[in-house]
Amino acid sequence: MLKRLINLFTGAKDSSKSTVYKNSDHNLSSEKVSQAALKVIQRLADSNHQAYLVGGGVRDVLLDGDPKDFDVATDATPEQVRRLFRNSRIVGRRFRIVHVRFGREIIEVTTFRSDHTGEEDQKLSSRSEDGMLLRDNVFGDIESDARRRDFTVNALYFSPITNEIFDFTGGVNDINDKTLRIIGDPQTRFKEDPVRMLRAVRFSAKLGFTIESKTAAPIKSLAPAITQVSSARLWDESLKLFMSGYSLPIFHKLEEFGLFAQLFPGSAEQVQARASFRVFFENAMANTDTRIRSGKRVTPAFIYAVLLWPEIEARIETLKTEKLTPAEATHQAYQQVLSRQCQFISIPKRFSTTMREIWDLQARLPRRAGQRAFRIMEHPRFRAAYDFLLLREQSGEDHQGLGQWWTDFQNANDVNREKMANEQHSRGRNNSNSRRRPRRKSPSNSPDVN
Ligand code: ATP
Ligand code: MG
Repeated sequence: MLKRLINLFTGAKDSSKSTVYKNSDHNLSSEKVSQAALKVIQRLADSNHQAYLVGGGVRDVLLDGDPKDFDVATDATPEQVRRLFRNSRIVGRRFRIVHVRFGREIIEVTTFRSDHTGEEDQKLSSRSEDGMLLRDNVFGDIESDARRRDFTVNALYFSPITNEIFDFTGGVNDINDKTLRIIGDPQTRFKEDPVRMLRAVRFSAKLGFTIESKTAAPIKSLAPAITQVSSARLWDESLKLFMSGYSLPIFHKLEEFGLFAQLFPGSAEQVQARASFRVFFENAMANTDTRIRSGKRVTPAFIYAVLLWPEIEARIETLKTEKLTPAEATHQAYQQVLSRQCQFISIPKRFSTTMREIWDLQARLPRRAGQRAFRIMEHPRFRAAYDFLLLREQSGEDHQGLGQWWTDFQNANDVNREKMANEQHSRGRNNSNSRRRPRRKSPSNSPDVN
C-alpha cells in the first residue's frame, strides 16, 4: 500500500492541482502493468505526447488485485493516436476512443476530455433534457479529464516513465479508506449518466468498499433514471454485474437501492411474492460466482434463465387457464416475458435461444423412461438444465428425487443406466395401467340385448 502521503506540487503545467506520489511513496510498479500498455505509453511519449495509465488498471494494481484491462489517457487526439499505431482503430460515437490491438489484448486509448460548458458544438457534446450526456467528445487537459471521471479511485494517473501517480480528486486517500466517492455533485453526475449508479454498486461489491454517504444518498430516488439508458448498453452493463464473480453481493445492493426492480420489474415482483424465489436467485448467483472464480465456463444465458424463470412459470399457469394447450401456453409465456424484459435490457437472440432450451428441458427432465433419458442427456443444454433443476430443488421445490436420479444416471455405467431407464419405463407403464379405465367387457360377457 501507499507508504505515506506527501503534497508535492510539481511545476508541470497539467499537474499543478494534483497531489503527486513519487516512486518511493507508492507500491505501484511497472512490472505489474501490461507490456502492451507500457509500449503504447512509451510510443506516445516519444512523439511528445502526455500519456498515463488510468482507471481500473491503476486502482486494481494499488489494491494488489488483477486488473481486467489497462486504459491509457493521453493529450493526443484519436486521429493522432490512430496514426501512431498501425494496429489501431477508432471506435464509439457517444465517446470516441482508440483501440490498439496487441494479439488478443486491446489497450483503450482515450483523449483527455473536458467539462461541458454548454456552449460546445452539438457534434462534440450533447445532453438530453434531463441532463443525460448523449455525447462526450470535448477534449481537455489531464485535470479536466480527472474531473469528468466517475469515482475518485478511478481517476488516478500513473506515469510508468517517471513512476509518479497524479491524484486530482483524493483517490489515493479513498483507496486507503476503502471508500467509493463520486467526483462532483452526486445528483448531477448520476443524472448525467445513470449507468454510474450501477458502477457504484458493482465497484463497492467487488472491491469491498463503502459507498460514501453523499454519493449513496440520491441513488434510490434516481434509480428510475436507469431505464433511460439504451437497452443495448444495459445488456453490456448487466454482464459486468452478473458475470464478474460478485453477482451475489451486487444483487443485494441492486435490491437495496431499488435498481433491481427497475432493471427486472417482472422478476422483482415475483421475488416479492415468494421468498423461495430469492433463495433460487441467491443460490444461482453464489454458484455462478464460484464457477467464475475457479475459472469454469459460464454463460449469461444461465443467469438470465434463472432471473426470468419465476415469471415464466407464473405466466404459463395464467395462460393455461385461457384454454391454451400446454405447448401454446409455454410458447406464449416465453414470448411475453422475453419481450417485456427486452424493453429494458436487450438480450441477444443467441442467449434467449439457449434460455428457452434450458426452460424446455425443465419439462422434459421428469419424462425420462426408456430411450428418452439417453436422448435428453445428449442435448447440448442438458448440463445447464440439470444444474438449473438442482437449484430449483435447493430453493425448496419438491421434485421427488428427480435431481438425485439424474445425478445417479450420469454417474452410472451403461448397464445400470439401461436398468434405471427401464425401471422408469415399467413404473410409467404401471402408473398408466392403474390409471386406465376398467376394460369394457367383451361382447360375450355383455348382457344379451336380444
Ligand atoms: P473495470 O475495467 O475493472 O470494470 P474500470 O474502472 O477500468 O473497471 P472501465 O469501464 O474499464 O472501468 O472504464 C475505465 C475508466 O473510465 C474508469 O476507471 C473511469 O475513470 C472512466 N469511466 C468509465 N465509465 C465511466 C462513466 N460512465 N462515467 C465516468 N467515467 C467513466
Ligand atoms: Mg477497465
